[in-house]
Amino acid sequence: MTDYRADFPILTTKINGGPLIYLDHAATSQKPQVVIDAISRYYATANANVHRGVYTLAARATAQYEAVRDQVAAFIQAPQRESVFFTRSTTDSLNWVAQTYGEQAVQAGDEIVVTAMEHHSNLVPWQQLALRKHAQLKVIGLLPNGELDWQSAEAMVTDRTKIVAVAQVSNVLGVTNPISALAKLAHQHGAILVVDGAQAVAHQPVNVQALDADFYAFSGHKMFGPTGVGVLYGKLALLKTLTPPQFGGEMIGEVTWEHTTLAAIPQRFEAGTPNISGVIGLGAAISYIQQIGFDTLRTQEQQLTAQLLNGLLNMPGVAVYGPKSVAEHGPVVAFNVIGCHPHDIATGLDLAGIEVRAGHHCAQPLMQWLQVPATVRASVAFYNTPAEIDHFLAILREVREFFQS
Ligand code: PMP
Repeated sequence: MTDYRADFPILTTKINGGPLIYLDHAATSQKPQVVIDAISRYYATANANVHRGVYTLAARATAQYEAVRDQVAAFIQAPQRESVFFTRSTTDSLNWVAQTYGEQAVQAGDEIVVTAMEHHSNLVPWQQLALRKHAQLKVIGLLPNGELDWQSAEAMVTDRTKIVAVAQVSNVLGVTNPISALAKLAHQHGAILVVDGAQAVAHQPVNVQALDADFYAFSGHKMFGPTGVGVLYGKLALLKTLTPPQFGGEMIGEVTWEHTTLAAIPQRFEAGTPNISGVIGLGAAISYIQQIGFDTLRTQEQQLTAQLLNGLLNMPGVAVYGPKSVAEHGPVVAFNVIGCHPHDIATGLDLAGIEVRAGHHCAQPLMQWLQVPATVRASVAFYNTPAEIDHFLAILREVREFFQS
């Protein structure tokens, strides 16, 4: 395995006297120096408001900002740059779709379909839309190993369905959903497919055209970029039918006291001053991922995930949720130490400098399905090392013995 730790300055930090072992990438990733540098370089050399000024500095800021739009479009293989616009986060992107397409398309008696593994960000906006519209929210069930139940998907999606909203990769179970098959199913019934790509884009190449997603949402901060910047991709033909949910500067053509014309897409959907430095940081993060290459990144993550999953499966007194085989397992493993509260386990690990998440992971209905109040979750990135996973497993054994004895 290639060691990329030196790219991430935070990894020299000591936590409770131990070296930081960061295993909460599903919540947010750490930032390489190149991303940190790109943000400070922007403020030091190019800071001005975008799209407005005629002066050189404004043109420089605009060029850098718009170059990232091209970069993102190429990264997710969008057919054109206009299909990509910047938001605050995955949550913001998904709410955007609910408030625009959802408001326009969903009527009383219609259906919105989600899966039982959704993050609250891809559940609550649809639930609230369904409540507002007197529509029905339907939930695709899961197989006992946590994978999507295709028979249930076929039963749930009907000619009344307007929207199918699904995560590409679950932030708890680590499973990958059959996105292009779901797109086909949705389209056969005249519905659109909205994909929550938050847990996918940093770990595998994404081709929105091959997936045939109508909308695809993700966050910069889970892909080595900064917080506060997200992306929404939408099919251009759909975007053209939508009324912007926000009005103000940047998104207009001409304004009189009586009327306003709209700017072209995508500016139409980016009202106000955007998160310019965040977008530039996201561009640096994409360049960093491309420099490593998904082949390397995936090989390293799969090796680390196999070590993590097998270590947990072989540990007595530990319950692992989701698929038990590493094939097609995302770099996220949820587990519990039987008889112990997940918070106690995470606190015990933290005392040794190991940072994992404990809780419901913003997926409370999924916790109900798993019949647990919460789980511990360890999630790796390519810059973790086999030695870190060994250390995590050794400390977990000690913590488990402490609590179980
Ligand atoms: N969906 C999934 C699957 C996620 O894992 C997350 C983040 N935990 C989100 C949506 C929300 O992302 P953000 O908080 O960046 O909006």
